[in-house]
Amino acid sequence: MPAELIDGVAIAKSIRAEVAADVQRLGKRGVHPGLAVVLVGEDPASEVYVRNKGRACEEAGMHSVTIRMPAATTQAELLEQVHRLNDDPAIHGFLVQMPLPKGIDADVVIRAIKPEKDVDGFHPVNVGKNLIGDRDGFVPCTPSGVQEMLGRSGTDTRGKECVIVGRSNIVGKPMMALMVQNGPNANATVTVCHSATRKLKEHTLRADILIVAAGKPRMVTGDMVKEGAVVIDVGINRVADASAKSGYRLVGDVDFESARERASRITPVPGGVGPMTIAMLLKNTVRAAEQSASR
Ligand code: NDP
Repeated sequence: MPAELIDGVAIAKSIRAEVAADVQRLGKRGVHPGLAVVLVGEDPASEVYVRNKGRACEEAGMHSVTIRMPAATTQAELLEQVHRLNDDPAIHGFLVQMPLPKGIDADVVIRAIKPEKDVDGFHPVNVGKNLIGDRDGFVPCTPSGVQEMLGRSGTDTRGKECVIVGRSNIVGKPMMALMVQNGPNANATVTVCHSATRKLKEHTLRADILIVAAGKPRMVTGDMVKEGAVVIDVGINRVADASAKSGYRLVGDVDFESARERASRITPVPGGVGPMTIAMLLKNTVRAAEQSASR
């Protein structure tokens, strides 16, 4: 029987509704969660993402600011903007959209963000907190969204073999740190694969939970999936499609059709992990506001 779909659109919608209720609750205490996004230059994919973030904030009743800076912005100018946001009491969380134009060192910019406002969870303080299982910090939105999807789809993770394909700082590594903790929706035995991994298929075939974030269209095929596994496809890749109006369509890192025949549950692309990222960003921002109010 083909796998049941894990519907990221529906799960993200319920998280956004919970966020909206939290925003109302905080409003009664005079706290109005505010999120700022800094966009440097004109990357078309970032534009879409930033627009969606703004819309989602509005729907949740949150204060949202987008700061646009020209592609010629210097690192010093961007750092000045970061410091202004660090000091702005109306902004509880903010992020600088990646990728940044050449000449700006992303690591320097990320380290300049106050950890308590780093709702993307990329500051080394938050990276460290995630690794030691301190839930006080902020976890990057895509892996935390994946963990929510596992929990809300009723996937049992305790003691399960969880294989992650990809070791980026944005997805694979924080995902590993989340799944290995001794806590709910975690407590798995985790393997992380990457481009130097030998015999990838031997690893993926052991996975009860297979999380793929490799940036390679349809790389994981059905024959690499264990019967009954839960498959989470983080990948978003554009592939040419002459039949589509735009000339392309989006596919994941998993070959959906063949993997669906083997898995018990699977996320589609689009409509899987994608919508979770913004929902988790809103959730992080509300928590940042709540924490700032109790300091
Ligand atoms: P990166 O390119 O930063 O990392 C890809 C990882 O996959 C690397 O660790 C790489 O290994 C590994 N890899 C590549 N090819 C193979 C292979 N053949 N076998 C095993 N491992 C391999 O990508 P990201 O982590 O940023 O993103 C991954 C995917 O997720 C992309 O498709 C991206 O678009 C998508 N994404 C989706 C988001 C969402 O909102 N849903 C958010 C973020 C990303 P090595 O380290 O050795 O190079």
